[in-house]
Amino acid sequence: MKPGVLPGVLDSDMAGIVEEYCRRLGINILCGAAVSEILGDGSFAGVYAGEEKIAAQLGILSTGFRAGTELADAVSMKTGRYGISVSPSMETSIAGIYAAGDCVEGWSVLDGKPVAAKLATSAYKQGIIAGASAAGEKAEYKGTAGTFVTKIGELEVAGTGFSTEMCGQRGFEAASGKIKTRYLPDYFPGGDEISVKVIADKNTGRILGGQAVGRSGAASRVNIISMAIEFGLSLEDLKRTELAYCPAVSEVEDPLFKAVDFCLRRMK
Ligand SMILES: Cc1cc2nc3c(=O)[nH]c(=O)nc-3n(C[C@H](O)[C@H](O)[C@H](O)COP(=O)(O)OP(=O)(O)OC[C@H]3O[C@@H](n4cnc5c(N)ncnc54)[C@H](O)[C@@H]3O)c2cc1C
Repeated sequence: MKPGVLPGVLDSDMAGIVEEYCRRLGINILCGAAVSEILGDGSFAGVYAGEEKIAAQLGILSTGFRAGTELADAVSMKTGRYGISVSPSMETSIAGIYAAGDCVEGWSVLDGKPVAAKLATSAYKQGIIAGASAAGEKAEYKGTAGTFVTKIGELEVAGTGFSTEMCGQRGFEAASGKIKTRYLPDYFPGGDEISVKVIADKNTGRILGGQAVGRSGAASRVNIISMAIEFGLSLEDLKRTELAYCPAVSEVEDPLFKAVDFCLRRMK
C-alpha cells in the first residue's frame, strides 16, 4: 500500500485527494520518507528526509501518541498495548477504580478488539460511563468507531470505522464503493464536489467503514455511516434511510447513497 496522509484511517485513494489539495496550496508532502538527519549548527536549518535535503527555519516534530500508564504500572494495574485495561463499565483491574480517555485501551465497536484511536469523542463518552458506574449506575461503553473529522485549509476530511487496509488486518473481506460528485443539483448555483467512500463486509453487507472529503458535508455523511456501524446496519439498511433534501442543500439522491449503490454492486 502506497504511504499517504492520515495512514490507517484514510484509504490511499482518499488520502490522494487531500495530498493533491495540499499541493495546490503549495504544500509539498513527502510520505514514507523518514527524517534521517536534523541539520543546523547551533540553530535549526532543515532536515534530510530520505535522499532529499530540505532547508527550513522551523521544524515541528509530531510523532504520534502513547498512553502514559506510569501511575497504573506503579500500582500493578493491568494494561494493554494501548493503555489501561478497563471493563465496559470502565472499571480497571483494581475494583472500585475507574479510568477513561486517552489513558485507557479502547476497543473497536466492530470487533471488540483493541484500537489505537485516542479521540475526545470517546474520552467524553467513557468519562460519563466511568462516572455513572462509580456512582453505582449500570452503564456500558460499547467501543469506538474511531469517527473523526479534521479540516485542512477549506477541506473537510472525515472517516469512521475501518479503512480497507485495516479491514484486511482485522480479518474482514471488504468491498467498497466510491463516488466523486457535486453535492448540489447541476442546475443549482453554488455547491462543490465531495468524494464519499463506503466500505462493507463483502459476505454480509455489514458496514465496516466510510470516508469523505469535500469543502462541505464530509462530516455529516461520515456521521451517518458511524451510526450505521454502531448499530450493525448493512448497506441495504442504510439505503432505506430517508435523508433530508432540498436543492439548496443536497441532491435528491445523496452522494452517500450513490457510494452505497456502487458498493452493493461489488458484493458477492
Ligand atoms: C493537538 C490535538 C488536537 C486534537 N484534536 C482533536 C479533535 O479535533 N477531535 C477529537 O475527537 N480529538 C482530538 N484530540 C484528542 C483529544 O484531545 C483527546 O483524545 C482528549 O483530550 C482526551 O481526553 P482525556 O480527558 O483523556 O485527556 P486530556 O484532555 O489530556 O486531559 C487529561 C488532564 O489530566 C491532567 N493530568 C495529567 N497528569 C496528571 C496528574 N498526574 N495529576 C493531575 N492531573 C493530571 C492534564 O493536565 C490534563 O488536564 C486532539 C489532540 C491533540 C493533542
